[in-house]
Amino acid sequence: SSFAHMGFDEALMQGIRKMGYTQPTPIQAQGVPIALSGRDIIGIAKTGSGKTAAFLWPLLVHIMDQKELKPGDGPIGLICAPTRELSQQIYHEAKRFGKVYNIHVVCAYGGGSMWEQTKACQEGAEIIVCTPGRLIDLVKKKATNLTRVTYLVFDEADRMFDMGFEPQVRSIANHVRPDRQTLLFSATFRKRIERLARDILTDPVRVVQ
Ligand code: AMP
Repeated sequence: SSFAHMGFDEALMQGIRKMGYTQPTPIQAQGVPIALSGRDIIGIAKTGSGKTAAFLWPLLVHIMDQKELKPGDGPIGLICAPTRELSQQIYHEAKRFGKVYNIHVVCAYGGGSMWEQTKACQEGAEIIVCTPGRLIDLVKKKATNLTRVTYLVFDEADRMFDMGFEPQVRSIANHVRPDRQTLLFSATFRKRIERLARDILTDPVRVVQ
C-alpha cells in the first residue's frame, strides 16, 4: 500500500515526506480510507502501530473541508487520551502535521495550569488534545465548549478504563453532538470496551493492527 491511495493533497504529502515516512503502516493503510469516508472506527492497535497519524490525518482533512472556519468557536476535533504523556505525544504530532494548514492545537491535561489551558482554548483551536477529567473541568468553567465538535477520538480506551475514567469518557461522548464521527482505539478489546463501543459508536468498522 502507498500514500498515493489516500488522496491527500500535496501540502500534507510534503509534511508526511518531511517526516521520512515512505509508506503507511497497516493501521494507517486500513484506517485512513475508512475514517476519510466518515465512518466510525473501533481500532485495535498498540503504541508503535502508527495509530496517532491514522486518526490525525483524516481529522486534518475533515477540518479543511469546512469552509467557514472562525477561530474561537470551540474545537472541531477532540482527542482524549489517558495520560499527560500520551496527550503531549499526540499534541506534538498534531502540531507537526496541523502546521501544514495553520491548524491550531491545544493540549489540556490534569496537573497543568488551568489558567494557561483556559487562555489557550480561548485563543481558539480547531483541535483539543486532552485527558478526560481536565476537559470536563474546562467545559464546566466555560473555557471551551463542545458544540462544534464533529470528530471525536478516544485513544487507549482500555487504559482510560483501568484508570477509572469510564464515567468521564461516557460524559464527554454524551456532550458531543450525536451526528459526530467517533474513533475508539484500544490495545485490547474486552467486554467493557465492547459495551462502550456499542453505546457511543454508530455502525463502526473494526480495524485491527
Ligand atoms: P504511534 O503508534 O502513533 O505512537 O506511532 C509510533 C511511531 O511511528 C511514531 O514515532 C511515529 O512518528 C512513527 N510513524 C507513524 N507513521 C509512520 C509511517 N507511516 N512510517 C514510519 N513511521 C511512522
